[in-house]
Amino acid sequence: PDGIENFSAWLEIDLGAIRNNVKRLGEIAGKPVMAVVKANGYGHGIVETARAAEAGGAAWCGVARVEEAQILRAAGLQIPILVMGYTPPEQVLPAVEEKISLTVYDPAVAKQYLQTAAASRKRVAVHVKFDSGMGRLGLFPEEGAAFVRWLRQQPEFEVEGIFSHFARADEPLAETTAWQIERMNRLLDQLEKEGLRPALVHVSNSAGTLYHPAGRFDMVRAGIAIYGLHPSDEAPLPDGFKPALSLKARLVSIKELPAQHGVGYNYRYVTSAPERVGVVSIGYADGYRRKKGGQMLVCGQRVTVLGTVCMDQCMVTLQDVPNARVGDEVVLIGAQGSDCITMEEVAQDWGTVNYEVATSMAHRLPRVYF
Ligand code: PLP
Repeated sequence: PDGIENFSAWLEIDLGAIRNNVKRLGEIAGKPVMAVVKANGYGHGIVETARAAEAGGAAWCGVARVEEAQILRAAGLQIPILVMGYTPPEQVLPAVEEKISLTVYDPAVAKQYLQTAAASRKRVAVHVKFDSGMGRLGLFPEEGAAFVRWLRQQPEFEVEGIFSHFARADEPLAETTAWQIERMNRLLDQLEKEGLRPALVHVSNSAGTLYHPAGRFDMVRAGIAIYGLHPSDEAPLPDGFKPALSLKARLVSIKELPAQHGVGYNYRYVTSAPERVGVVSIGYADGYRRKKGGQMLVCGQRVTVLGTVCMDQCMVTLQDVPNARVGDEVVLIGAQGSDCITMEEVAQDWGTVNYEVATSMAHRLPRVYF
């Protein structure tokens, strides 16, 4: 990509991969896709990700907070957007003005929205969220029909959809996913009988879409898969998906340290013999976890972090990479030569999931798109 020579640490994001992943997921689902672009597009950049997702056929964008939806509207995105989390009543009218759909999950909060809307004679587009087993937002489906009935009776609300979220779809053997689907089906049957079922029922996240076809309903909401990342070890992506993000930095100094020389804060590494050491221009303030022993690629070879990662830099051994030069690209996530460090590998090293690695990429890292 153009422009990387200007940076000492950066993210490269393959928008073609995102377009392709959205398209592929839509083909598998056989249903419209809501691209989940909250948290700055899982670190990939919310606006660029949303545009690529739209180009890949996404019908909706899903975000967690109204500010995220407003960023998309300010950038000119016109497809429907759903705020899937809580919206303060003060933000309801600004959201309506920008054609942003909101989530309602609590009758008391819905009444506050109603008052705001009634005073302004505006209709608020809402999706009703149910807790079918996540233990998070929403009424239980068994107590849901009355809430939907009430919402549908208020002219201030336009009930566009009903949704829920899986707790264990990324554990394909867990039986609770089928139980969640069953609970939603019972609610929908009841609503159907009363003519109250809205057009858009959506329950599945990426893993749900791939592993629980019965949960696809009218639309699927996919985050992790559109970035080409695996929902979990047990629920990997099928062929045809591609990771979009690479994390890169540079070798900015190379030195020969004598034996018994400490490296970095608190000397968590001490050379046992003379050692060739490289300084890499990336640190924990970039979102690269402050720990020992991480792996990076230099000249297509794996090298190990020495000592703990500093705020803006870290040190690696170059003992076995004699041809490394100052200015060389270092790959922390992604491919170089014939090797590749996946986000999943980094997540395992950090004791977390790829979702957290992706969303911890710092704001200060320039995102370079291609
Ligand atoms: N729907 C909701 C309500 C979510 O909170 C999320 C993300 O956590 C998603 C969908 C997308 O999930 P995934 O990234 O596993 O596809």
